[in-house]
Amino acid sequence: MSDETQLAVIGGGPGGYAAAFLAADLGMKVALVDPEANPGGVCLYRGCIPSKALLHVAKLIEESRQAANWGVKFSDPKIDVEKLRGWKEGVVTKLTGGLGQLAKQRSVRYLRGTASFVNSNTVSVKTASGEEKLEFRHAILATGSRPATIPGVPAGNGNVLDSTSALELASVPKTMLVVGGGYIGLELGTVYAALGSKVSVVEMTDGLIPGCDRDLVAVLAKRLEKIFDSIMLKTKVVEMKETDKGLRVKFEGEGGPQNAQTYEKVLIAVGRKPNSDVPGLENTRVITNSRGFIQVNAQRQTADSSIYAIGDVAGEPMLAHKASHEGRTAVEAASGRNVAFEPRAIPAVIFTDPEIAWAGLTETEARGQNRPIHVAKFPWGASGRALTLDRTDGLTKLIIDPETEQVLGMGIVGAGAGELIAEGVLAIEMAALASDLELTIHPHPTLSETVMQAAEVFSGTATDFYRPRRK
Ligand code: FAD
Ligand code: NAD
Repeated sequence: MSDETQLAVIGGGPGGYAAAFLAADLGMKVALVDPEANPGGVCLYRGCIPSKALLHVAKLIEESRQAANWGVKFSDPKIDVEKLRGWKEGVVTKLTGGLGQLAKQRSVRYLRGTASFVNSNTVSVKTASGEEKLEFRHAILATGSRPATIPGVPAGNGNVLDSTSALELASVPKTMLVVGGGYIGLELGTVYAALGSKVSVVEMTDGLIPGCDRDLVAVLAKRLEKIFDSIMLKTKVVEMKETDKGLRVKFEGEGGPQNAQTYEKVLIAVGRKPNSDVPGLENTRVITNSRGFIQVNAQRQTADSSIYAIGDVAGEPMLAHKASHEGRTAVEAASGRNVAFEPRAIPAVIFTDPEIAWAGLTETEARGQNRPIHVAKFPWGASGRALTLDRTDGLTKLIIDPETEQVLGMGIVGAGAGELIAEGVLAIEMAALASDLELTIHPHPTLSETVMQAAEVFSGTATDFYRPRRK
């Protein structure tokens, strides 16, 4: 076995590279296969990182406008799209290049190419210089996901974008229709609106971000109504045609216009599909479920004992930190450790402005399960720090077990919610009680205090917000 690869990782995203690096740190002989020049996957090349670089710029633009309320007036920004694109690409290059270095330092063999399965212990890797067979003891499939689309979209039309082409930032269109009011639609809609596009969002369900608690979404929706041209709920696109003036779109549903509308660009953001159609997978015992995700057990092992699957290809939520953590579980399981992927909380963050973040049990889930809960909310209007930032459009809430007083979930909407939620994740994982949050001294004046203050609301003793004691 000495020459054999102990672990072959297929796909170099946050699941794949985290797994490959940990395996190397544990002393395994590791190969990592991905078509890009360096590890990074969707997240670094065309997902989390470029979108957050652009969202940072969007926030700066919005804040500079808001500054007029405080007596500081900046002139309207001049957007140099080429320079902005260059900066965003620089961030990606730096980060992915760094991962390439880290792979070398750990002696992870990085193969730039595409893998197909020959059998349960062999992949064939097609590289620029030919084809190589790689035998392995264990493999981890981390092939990620790709954008889904809707029927009737004109094929090959450069004005119909998905998240990948929207992040390329070829131009800033005058008008843009975003199909899908979820993570990508709202994040990238925010970017284009800040850069000067008139953005309309069409969402087929009755609210933005289905699955997220409505009180959190309401705070975001209020702000988005100001920056977007329109938000059409309970509406679907039924026809899209190319014309000289742009894409002519017909809608059907309660929130849409009767007449067709024309947009310079349309961004389709209706979800993602797992990349489980890996060539040759039929030569193994790996099976997929009805939604196309690779079926795995708690160790992330597939129906083929030598092959594990992690990240977007192995199920929802399709989030980078979930992929990386699964990578840890799979590597430890492959190395013989007694582990399982059983998080109590996987945080979700939507990096709009304000941000929305939640972790653990949501109020919506609890109500759906008829599970008794106590919800304690602290509105940011009562937060000194939120006032100093002129960002009182926020809410921190705790979902608490009424019997044990254990914190089961946390939801936050407000500036920086994505950073604040980490305390909730730790509290849930550590089985903290509401009183643990209440009695932990939080720095003043910070937004982090709102977590402690929500716990104070639960006990009926919130210094800054009067709510009578619970019976
Ligand atoms: P991926 O990152 O999808 O990587 C899979 C890799 O496998 C790819 O490089 C692919 O080319 C390669 N591959 C596929 N088939 C083969 C093969 N046969 N051989 C070799 N290689 C192969 N998540 C967050 O947590 N936070 C965010 O802020 C966030 N923002 C996002 C923004 C956008 C616009 C998008 C699209 C996604 C975002 N996500 C975010 C989701 C996140 O990108 C994914 O959850 C994450 O990348 C999944 O990681 P992964 O390792 O499963 O696979
Ligand atoms: P999504 O599932 O978040 O949102 C898709 C939205 O489109 C839903 O609200 C859905 O109801 C709506 N929709 C579906 N079909 C439609 C139709 N025909 N017409 C109108 N609306 C329709 O999917 P996404 O925004 O494409 O993002 C994909 C995934 O990528 C996310 O679920 C998330 O896992 C990941 N992601 C995460 C982040 C982050 O963590 N900040 C950012 C971007 C993407």
